[in-house]
Amino acid sequence: MKPAAFGYLRPTSIEEALTQLAAGGAAAKLIAGGQSLGPMMNMRLATPSQLIDLNDLTELACIRDAGEWLEIGALARHHQIASSAVVQRDCPLLAQAAQTIGHYAIRQRGTLGGSLAHADPAAQLPLVAVTLGARLNLVSASSRRSVPAHEFFLAAMTTALEGDELIASIEFPKAVAGEAASFKMFNRRHGDYAIVAAATTVQVEDGKVKRVRLGLGGVAPMPRCLDEVIAPFLGGTPDEQWVARVAAAVRQAVAPDDDTRISALYRRELAQTLVARALARATGQLQDHP
Ligand SMILES: Cc1cc2nc3c(=O)[nH]c(=O)nc-3n(C[C@H](O)[C@H](O)[C@H](O)COP(=O)(O)OP(=O)(O)OC[C@H]3O[C@@H](n4cnc5c(N)ncnc54)[C@H](O)[C@@H]3O)c2cc1C
Repeated sequence: MKPAAFGYLRPTSIEEALTQLAAGGAAAKLIAGGQSLGPMMNMRLATPSQLIDLNDLTELACIRDAGEWLEIGALARHHQIASSAVVQRDCPLLAQAAQTIGHYAIRQRGTLGGSLAHADPAAQLPLVAVTLGARLNLVSASSRRSVPAHEFFLAAMTTALEGDELIASIEFPKAVAGEAASFKMFNRRHGDYAIVAAATTVQVEDGKVKRVRLGLGGVAPMPRCLDEVIAPFLGGTPDEQWVARVAAAVRQAVAPDDDTRISALYRRELAQTLVARALARATGQLQDHP
């Protein structure tokens, strides 16, 4: 199927894009990689009458050191993030997750900002943003604000973005000493969205677990941060028993819904298994390279 007719604008500055977005109102839509919006337009699930193409705004594709944070422009491609030595070093969870998205061609075009704005409940990058406590920098022609990731995702495919706003960049906290990251997901076919995905960072100090960030995708309409589940396990010794206890607690804490393809029970089993694998991998890395 072909998309409905639409107008096409290609701004050369962020200011121009924001002016066009404000003028276009509800009929205007930003396009970045086109890997989600394109199929939706082809299926006529989205029928914007005006597309505003961000692809000439190369300043939105930067990866910038911002002290304890790594600031990544919304137009950074999944492949760029996965293969960046800076991201691999300073935010390894994000690099690992980006590498697992779809197929090579999709990673070449798809962008960080597009993935967060699209807000698919099973997508990798929203999960990483919530797990790490990232901050999204949103701009409009008349405003500028920073929104924590856990406040950005409101429901499946629904975010806090106003109609005249675009995501300019996202700030992720940099990894600290003694911390390792792991991203694990399960799908039935290579390149598909995950059925369930687990993201974690583990920090160990003097042989004890000091800090864990843990998030799950695919168990709720939005990425689920499990900080409250992990809290009782801090201070423990990061061995096999510890991993098994945390994973069992996660299984108790999640309550996914049944759907036409996947049962809730299966998702809970996956949540337990993937959390165990992610924690085992992260703690294993710390034992190999303390
Ligand atoms: C076959 C296939 C398999 C895929 N598999 C996966 C997968 O396994 N995991 C996964 O996470 N994703 C997957 N994707 C989706 C892919 O990651 C998309 O790239 C991503 O969801 C959207 O990014 P985009 O840059 O292509 O956005 P676009 O499609 O251009 O836009 C998507 C939405 O974001 C908005 N938008 C874009 N940029 C901005 C911005 N800077 N500010 C505000 N709004 C903006 C657009 O208006 C639109 O509403 C898959 C896609 C395909 C076609």
